[in-house]
Amino acid sequence: MGKIIGIDLGTTNSCVAFVDNGEPKVIPNAEGSRTTPSVVSFSKDGERRVGSVAKRQGVTNPHSTVFAIKRLMGLDFAAEAATKHARVVPYEVVESERGDAWVQIGDEQFSPPEISAMVLEKMREVAESFLGEDVQEAIVTVPAYFNDAQRSATIAAGKIAGLEVRRIINEPTAAALAYGFEEHEGKRVAVYDLGGGTFDISILEISDGVFSVKSTAGDTHLGGEDIDNALVDELGRRFEEQSGINLREDRVALQRLKEQAEKAKHELSSALETEINLPFIASDESGPKHLETAIKRSDLEILVSEIVDRTLGPCQQALDDAGVKREEIDEILLVGGQTRMPMVRSKVSEFFGKDPHKGVNPDEVVAMGAALQGAALTGEVEEVLLLDVTPLSLGVETGGGVFHRLIPRNTTVPTRAKEIFTTSVDNQTFVPIHVLQGERDMAENNKSLAKFELAPILPAPRGVPEVEVTFDIDADGVVNVSAKDLGTGREQNIRVVASSGLTEQEIERIIGEADAYKMTDQKRKELAELRNTAEALLYTSERAVAECRELVAEEIVAQVEADIQSLHVCIDEGDAIAIKDALETLELSAYKIAEAMYGNVDLDTAVEGEAQTDS
Ligand code: AMP
Repeated sequence: MGKIIGIDLGTTNSCVAFVDNGEPKVIPNAEGSRTTPSVVSFSKDGERRVGSVAKRQGVTNPHSTVFAIKRLMGLDFAAEAATKHARVVPYEVVESERGDAWVQIGDEQFSPPEISAMVLEKMREVAESFLGEDVQEAIVTVPAYFNDAQRSATIAAGKIAGLEVRRIINEPTAAALAYGFEEHEGKRVAVYDLGGGTFDISILEISDGVFSVKSTAGDTHLGGEDIDNALVDELGRRFEEQSGINLREDRVALQRLKEQAEKAKHELSSALETEINLPFIASDESGPKHLETAIKRSDLEILVSEIVDRTLGPCQQALDDAGVKREEIDEILLVGGQTRMPMVRSKVSEFFGKDPHKGVNPDEVVAMGAALQGAALTGEVEEVLLLDVTPLSLGVETGGGVFHRLIPRNTTVPTRAKEIFTTSVDNQTFVPIHVLQGERDMAENNKSLAKFELAPILPAPRGVPEVEVTFDIDADGVVNVSAKDLGTGREQNIRVVASSGLTEQEIERIIGEADAYKMTDQKRKELAELRNTAEALLYTSERAVAECRELVAEEIVAQVEADIQSLHVCIDEGDAIAIKDALETLELSAYKIAEAMYGNVDLDTAVEGEAQTDS
């Protein structure tokens, strides 16, 4: 069995790890970095780039560079979060036919799983080139707070990337796995995870190799980017004060500002003050304008204190749900790049009344835990039992649009619940069912997962037919539904509109397109290589003709010149097969020049001459 790699598919950065001799190890990418930006860019001629090259392109080509796609996974366009996202990113976010938030690049639309698949594929390539073998299976992590649609969208992304996602595990559970269990038996751990786009807090108990999540809470739209945006606003405000120019409408300037703000934020995690320097950020009649200003750590802390405080509400909720007091937590693990900010650490320490654990790397621990879970599945390391919980209640819509809970949040998964449904009027031929996930009392305020009809129902007075519907949440946190007509004993065929935002057929189509894209990419690469070889041969042949014209037979020169000419034409036309033929022809005729030249040299004399000189 091949390796099962662990991938932390992050909002800002992704990380891939594998287990080597029982130890989880992070795999560096081709540039030597241990994490890869989760950024995809599209060039004008349709070429796709992923990672740091794509991130760099974001500065010059912001409209075609997609970052933070994780925030759009499994999201309806109408959801406030999607429209808010659309306002802060330079690429266009549009509403798909089914109402999901998609990305528009030029004339093409991409679903968030398609973009995430490009990142996953990159991580797979990183692993394959390091391990020197094909990788087909992965454990992918998601924020504990992801709902069914977001989880299904992540699985769909894996499928598109040609990876079998063996398990989706929650990021905090992965972090706890990497933190280890043998030496931490009987501990109660809080995992505080503040990444680029999401915040999660989970309370776990570790005992006898069982990782049992007691509760989880968080916010899928709270993270480092909110801090960057607050800093961008502040810098924009300062610039407007100095120059009277509003940068908020200028997407390219905003992108530069955002890059600089993030850099400054990182620097302020170790330094107390930093300079912002952005030459030529705008211009008016009086000429170009530059942004030069200094930011102190305390300035940043005042600006974002409220954002960091927003993480504390979910912390309290998770404690309450787990029935645990703050002082009963033995260890706090910090996960996610944003926890490097000193104020985050101090607020967490203050809240829990103790300092967080220092032994884990917040950027790598999640991928390492995922790799450990993969190795447990292949038997390479000892099996561990992960008992996760569902982060959100699952239920159905009942009369008057009320949300009726079937599985409350923080129930250990896998779990199932059954409910009997019936008709409300005589001779009704179907029963409509609307499945939702969320904590609000009215259905319309929760996330709609699926709507379907139980049919056909035999004609009967109202209330007589009985259809038993089973709602399952599997170990990945994904919801499955099945139904049985208790009257006839017949299993019902339920058509659930894919909650990943893509139907199976669409996923298949995208996989086909991705394969076709790979083929075109391969062809493009072959053509480029062929052109290179052809140009090198043209160069040497043209030089040979120029230097040896007088020394070889005229017909040989004429032939080589004709072959050079036709190779030039083929290169201009760009047909690989024709270039290859013309290249071979020129090779043969050019050899004749060499043959004729070496034929002119009397080898025996040359060797003898040398021998004489030597003696
Ligand atoms: P993640 O999603 O875990 O990769 O976290 C990425 C977030 O962490 C981004 O918002 C980064 O700007 C932020 N981050 C990374 N390094 C630092 C640092 N040294 N100080 C503050 N924030 C950081």
